[in-house]
Amino acid sequence: MSVCNEKRVELLAIQKVSNQFFLQIQLLLDQKIQLVWEVDETTANSLQATAKFETGAKYYLSFYHSWDAREKKKVGCITRTYLGKNNKKFFSCSKEYSQNLNLLKPIQQIKQLHALPFLSSPHSLKQDKERTSKQKTTYIPFLSPKLAWMAVFIMSLFAFLVLNETKPVKAEALNNRIVVTAASAISEEKESIQHPAIKLKKSMNYNVPRGYVALTFDDGPSKYSKKIVNILKKYKVGGTFFYIGTNVKNRPEDVKYAKKNGFSIGSHSMNHPKFTSLSYQKQEKELTQANTIIEKITKEPVTLFRPPYGAKNSNTSKLTKKYNQKMVIWSIDTRDWESRNAKKILTVVKSSKTSGSIILLHESAAVVEALPDIIKHLQKEDLKIVNLQ
Ligand SMILES: [Zn+2]
Repeated sequence: MSVCNEKRVELLAIQKVSNQFFLQIQLLLDQKIQLVWEVDETTANSLQATAKFETGAKYYLSFYHSWDAREKKKVGCITRTYLGKNNKKFFSCSKEYSQNLNLLKPIQQIKQLHALPFLSSPHSLKQDKERTSKQKTTYIPFLSPKLAWMAVFIMSLFAFLVLNETKPVKAEALNNRIVVTAASAISEEKESIQHPAIKLKKSMNYNVPRGYVALTFDDGPSKYSKKIVNILKKYKVGGTFFYIGTNVKNRPEDVKYAKKNGFSIGSHSMNHPKFTSLSYQKQEKELTQANTIIEKITKEPVTLFRPPYGAKNSNTSKLTKKYNQKMVIWSIDTRDWESRNAKKILTVVKSSKTSGSIILLHESAAVVEALPDIIKHLQKEDLKIVNLQ
């Protein structure tokens, strides 16, 4: 009953870089694109034992996966194509791998890939390798010898931590629509963590007042959430996370962590659909499901909503008003999901008018890498980096 011949995800190689494992894949959607998919060690090893990458043979990952009750493990499926013959092979995989497969399954177009933080550009790996070895950056179809590929991810080194508490920004008469307040910390925190914040008054927002800037992070929570929170914390700046309900279900701890550290949390819908293609009822379900799951964790109403792809219509406006939510769009699109490259993301920010901007970022390795430099740049421009409320 298993089907193993769905959408084409060609597996080109398996790589190990700095003790992290990556599948190099070629995805055939509306265009062809090469990406790297970070996976766990178990999945990488069992795939490597299954796919031999002989000359002429091609391997395609299937969207099929199942639960082997006897072995008590998840099983994935890969098709080997050689001389016109197809062969199904099974391998043990992690729960995370199967969950990510499910996220990839409905994707139709390249531009939708930004919702999948486990995918990134082959670029980022190349750069890391170049930094640490003179090795050619061609991909090889096997796990390479450890030493050759032991790339060191260069972590940002920052000399010291400022121990002083961040003072909340005083209310200023910016205009009558927007007031500056401080984010309140949740009650179980002994010390309140407060970041400067802007309270949005308009139902639709593209900007904040001049002199301020808002960093916004979409599509989490993900394994990058904590890293992003820690960077924002370190620089004592605000940040707003727009979470996808299905991701919240899988990673409630990351939501708690962002909340505990005083950052703003908004909804980015339950399943990340394009709202303009949905009926009023379906849009409503997307909103309320996400609100319920987030509010269960944060214990407060979700007042901010960012529509996936920024796509909204009059029904979206009616619904967000009904649920007392402000829509947050953006004025700077870093196109981080496209470049997946820290340098390029920073270049976009540096070449944009940042005062009063809302900057769109996604939770990814490239954003984690770029974030300290983005913050330093904005601070050099004398801007206050705020939470949205
Ligand atoms: Zn998104």
